[in-house]
Amino acid sequence: MNYKHPITAPERLGGLVAGAPSSGGGIDIPVWYPATGAQVSTLTEDDASAVDKAVNAARRAFDGGPWPRLGVEARMQVLRRCQAIILAHADELARLECLNTGLLLRELKARHMVRAAYNFSFFADYIGQATGQRYDQATDYVTTVARDPVGVAALIAPWNAPVALASMKIAAALAFGNTCVVKPSEQTPLAVARLVELLQETLPEGVLNLVNGRGTVTGAALVAHKGVDLVSFTGGTETGRAIMSAAGQNLVPCTMELGGKSANIITESADLDRALDGALLGIFSNNGQQCLAGSRILVHRSIMDEFMGRFVERAEHLRVGDPTADDTELGPLASAPHRDRVLGFADIARADGGSVMTGAARREDLGRGYFVAPTAVRACSNADRVAQNEIFGPFATFLPFDTNDEAVAIANDTAFGLVAYVWSDDLPTVMQITDGLRAGVLWVNTPMMRELRAPFGGYGASGVGREGGAACENFYTEQKTITIPR
Ligand code: NAD
Repeated sequence: MNYKHPITAPERLGGLVAGAPSSGGGIDIPVWYPATGAQVSTLTEDDASAVDKAVNAARRAFDGGPWPRLGVEARMQVLRRCQAIILAHADELARLECLNTGLLLRELKARHMVRAAYNFSFFADYIGQATGQRYDQATDYVTTVARDPVGVAALIAPWNAPVALASMKIAAALAFGNTCVVKPSEQTPLAVARLVELLQETLPEGVLNLVNGRGTVTGAALVAHKGVDLVSFTGGTETGRAIMSAAGQNLVPCTMELGGKSANIITESADLDRALDGALLGIFSNNGQQCLAGSRILVHRSIMDEFMGRFVERAEHLRVGDPTADDTELGPLASAPHRDRVLGFADIARADGGSVMTGAARREDLGRGYFVAPTAVRACSNADRVAQNEIFGPFATFLPFDTNDEAVAIANDTAFGLVAYVWSDDLPTVMQITDGLRAGVLWVNTPMMRELRAPFGGYGASGVGREGGAACENFYTEQKTITIPR
């Protein structure tokens, strides 16, 4: 199968510093189309000296440029122009993202790019409505709290939703007056690079810079740089540890949006049709590669066989294939090594005593792309490796439970704590389970509705800090308490 490419990418790609191509200096990295395995571009890595130039450009724009000093209204206008630019180029950005990730084109257009644009209008509205603090001490002093931008923000994004995730960080950092150096994943630089290029049109020079390359080279140089004032990271838990240690050396604040192994709890009182739709979406959307996947499906023992049977039947009928086709439901995985890692978990499941209910195979009939069949396994216990490790693919792990307390105990028995889903039409059950769950975001009878005003982030190995309205305001600003006699 030789699927048509959604768009032609630039032959060669690099970073962008103060609006000009970066000096690069590192190795060449091939960029692939996951649906065909064809190389579609070449990335020039930015070495430490290129990263230094990018941070210095952001530093100059922060220390002497207009952006941090702009009034709120003027900044809101620029953010709204960013929104308009993204909407005007949504088709192109979605196609580049599809070419680079294999994510479904229709989803990229309908959700990711709409969200990317909304991130800017959301923060424009937020800063327009932000309120201040004033405290009247006794009768003779008044204390107010002012907020300053923090400075140069290092924004590091993963490959599973590159534009949607990077744009959240960029919009939030800019809204509060910071300047930025963005580093997308070396696997998926195409659409983020174009986004940064497009936004130059409306931003002062040096406010938004881009570096590209491997995490251990470009990313490590960025987080270790003394000119960086904060680090916002989304990615894997082990990478998060490395980045936090490096940022710790410079004593700069970090947010860490990390991995998950989230529970999707299907109780006896659930509406099974809705729960089934939610469970399928929870594990197979975004080609199965999402931090908030409901990857451990915990089902009350009395309905386990029925629910799992229906899930397997639906999974086997999912249309896998061309990510640009309107009726495709599951595209390829992001890379060949990632596909092999995901499939390797089927053997691990069997070795731990679990059974594979469906999938666990490459879809070689679809050509050289990185396609796998939607997979479901029944684990032996929550200690199994498929129940404890983030697999990050279309791979559901089922486990039964007998009581609400047991469901909560299993759900919490993991190093992670990003999200959890609960399906129940019984309010006391919902209350008991949501009270007990230790995860940052809980969805009851609904899959994955994200409210940008609310905090998003995880407990434990799923992260440190939160993203979202007020959480971003606190992270991207320094607070200054000023007391004045009357
Ligand atoms: P990753 O950790 O391998 O890479 C993420 C980014 O960090 C990339 O840009 C990479 O180049 C960079 N990086 C790697 N090592 C670095 C280092 N030492 N210093 C600086 N930068 C470095 O993650 P990934 O494989 O790209 O993404 C998948 C992971 O992201 C999954 O674990 C997923 O759960 C997580 N994720 C979390 C959220 C969330 O909001 N919690 C959202 C999406 C993805």
